[in-house]
Amino acid sequence: MKLAVAALLVGSAAAFAPVAFNPRQSSSLSAELLSKQTGISSLDPSVIASYASLGLPADKILAEYVWVDAEGGTRSKTRTLPAAKGESVDKLPKWNFDGSSTGQAPGDDSEVILRPVRIFRDPFRPRSDGVDNILVMCDCYTPAGDAIESNTRAVAESQFEGKEDEVCWFGLEQEFTLFNLDEVTPLGWPKGGMPSRPQGPYYCSVGPENNFGRQITESLYRACLYAGIEISGTNGEVMPGQQEYQVGPCVGIDAGDQLMMSRYILQRVCEDFQVYCTLHPKPIVDGDWNGAGMHTNVSTKAMREEGGLKDIKEAIYKLGAKHAEHIAVYGEGNELRLTGKFETASVDEFCYGVANRGASIRIGRDTEAEGKGYFEDRRPSSNADPYVVCGKIFDTITEDVEVPVIEPMNKEEA
Ligand code: ADP
Ligand code: MN
Ligand code: MN
Ligand code: MN
Repeated sequence: MKLAVAALLVGSAAAFAPVAFNPRQSSSLSAELLSKQTGISSLDPSVIASYASLGLPADKILAEYVWVDAEGGTRSKTRTLPAAKGESVDKLPKWNFDGSSTGQAPGDDSEVILRPVRIFRDPFRPRSDGVDNILVMCDCYTPAGDAIESNTRAVAESQFEGKEDEVCWFGLEQEFTLFNLDEVTPLGWPKGGMPSRPQGPYYCSVGPENNFGRQITESLYRACLYAGIEISGTNGEVMPGQQEYQVGPCVGIDAGDQLMMSRYILQRVCEDFQVYCTLHPKPIVDGDWNGAGMHTNVSTKAMREEGGLKDIKEAIYKLGAKHAEHIAVYGEGNELRLTGKFETASVDEFCYGVANRGASIRIGRDTEAEGKGYFEDRRPSSNADPYVVCGKIFDTITEDVEVPVIEPMNKEEA
């Protein structure tokens, strides 16, 4: 079966144009057989299952402490704790890691302190005795108690602090792109080539010729629900090999905690499937392929109440006045994605519109019709830091300033 697939790909490779550019480095790993759905895991599931079935002492839990590293990715390590400590985040002890190994501390003072901020159930270590092993989201401090540079959560926390009455909801759409382990060939693409059909059939697709990586998204979905993450949906995306899930609505800083943990879970799932996942905003630059974003849907309490459209528009004017400031923190490489093509607005211009997917900010038709609801900031890239994005948006829209009115650019007029 696998050989037949390989032969098919080799046989048809000449028909595809070569990929001239890919922003990531090719690694030495190579997957010779290109599966359209998953990589090739060398792990025998029955062997793993036999270890996983071993019972754990009822008075102990495994706690996986997760933190954000210097590149905005996640890292983790495990410790055994008395089960009672896992009942609430305040009962969990602080911990530490060697920051000199992650580029987060100098070698001569390498200890970084992990402060637990949020508990999730661990979907990778389920147990049947009614006790939960846990994933613990942490943020990072120096031994003296100062937030380290990569701790963007601490900044966001201060931005939200004292303004709890706003009850700001965030719904984050996380797009991601799956590759074979060669890190060059997106899932479903022929090695060294491109799909023979252009974009069109892949978005929200079904069928083996259209949807690549569904099992990864499905597994992520289950794992997130099990963990207690408010994952609100998933869909196949426009570029073959690209997928999306949404987290939210979550209130304030919790949006950052939940999205970061969902990214950790995504990486763990991809590890199991042996598929490389990137959050790069423009994984394939050559050709007509969509980039990947982290559309950020936002509403304050006032926006969700009668007449809230007025508040939404005021927030949009404030965001327009600080366009460049926002773009600067909306993700690395985002300028490759925000070209004004492929359902994006240009990185240099701010515009908004009703139902306009070519705008920086979109107001949904329902929100306009009901005169209340939420808006969607379409600018953040898939690799953007959710703490930075949510904190920055909140800071800008709750600022007490007068800003000029901006005229909408609706689809009909565009
Ligand atoms: P799109 O139509 O842009 O693809 P999605 O359905 O993918 O939108 O994502 C919309 C996200 O917005 C979901 O996570 C949803 O839970 C969230 N959302 C819904 N209502 C609100 C609201 N009032 N405030 C903030 N986020 C919201
Ligand atoms: Mn979406
Ligand atoms: Mn999308
Ligand atoms: Mn969207």
